Amino acid sequence: MSIHARVLGIAQDAGVPHVGCSCARCNRQRSGPLRVACLGLLGASGRTYLIDATPDFNAQTAALPAFPSGIALTHAHMGHYTGLMYLGREGVSAARIPVYCTPAMWAFLRRNEPWKSLGRDGYVEYQKHEVGERFELEPGLELESVEVPHRNEHADTVAYLVHGPQNTLLYLPDIDRWELDLPALLDRCDTALLDGSFFSKDELGSRSEEVPHPPIEETLALLSREHACKVRFTHLNHSNPTLLAGSAEWNRVQSTGARIAQEGERLPL
Ligand SMILES: [Zn+2]
Ligand SMILES: [Zn+2]
Ligand SMILES: [Zn+2]
Repeated sequence: MSIHARVLGIAQDAGVPHVGCSCARCNRQRSGPLRVACLGLLGASGRTYLIDATPDFNAQTAALPAFPSGIALTHAHMGHYTGLMYLGREGVSAARIPVYCTPAMWAFLRRNEPWKSLGRDGYVEYQKHEVGERFELEPGLELESVEVPHRNEHADTVAYLVHGPQNTLLYLPDIDRWELDLPALLDRCDTALLDGSFFSKDELGSRSEEVPHPPIEETLALLSREHACKVRFTHLNHSNPTLLAGSAEWNRVQSTGARIAQEGERLPL
């Protein structure tokens, strides 16, 4: 099998339709919900891996050719790690499946139930890697974490550079502001899945200060054409008009060379 990444979801943590919402965008997705942002990795060995364990863990693992042999976590917000609950006794009763995380995330998971019991009872094995460290999932497939500024109530937040034999992919679903050098990161990768929670600040009205996230239009303004062509936006909030292919905002993204990520899309590694 060729080594590649597969987009397993593109929605913000609480999905689309958003829990409790009946806006036009949510109503349109009722018969076909968009899954929460997640990336599958398929190695040459036939093994698979996940970046993030979402509330859609069940459907997302079922979409892979094999159950994941390891899971790397970006941070401790509900859409990114709570899928670990499926690994315990009521779920697959996994046998010490490696869960890769930063030292701060490792400490959070080992301190708090039910994640603490998952580790103590041997369903998962939390493995910490320093931020910035590069480590191997299997020969030919490596991850390198990158520190990301984000509201860190419980632990910290990272993105991952996924290094395959041919290509490098950046997976960065959640960020508060572009304090890090985005063009320099894009120079280091062939494709980048970036936080596209909102198209513009207008979507949030009076809440725009509460929920930071650089809107897509601000991110695009930072990019050269060459860099924009590497970018796919993911982690879309239900308010985001680019959820509708063909909308004026969707067309604006396309005109720069960037794309909205698609569930099921394969990206070569
Ligand atoms: Zn998120
Ligand atoms: Zn909605
Ligand atoms: Zn978050």
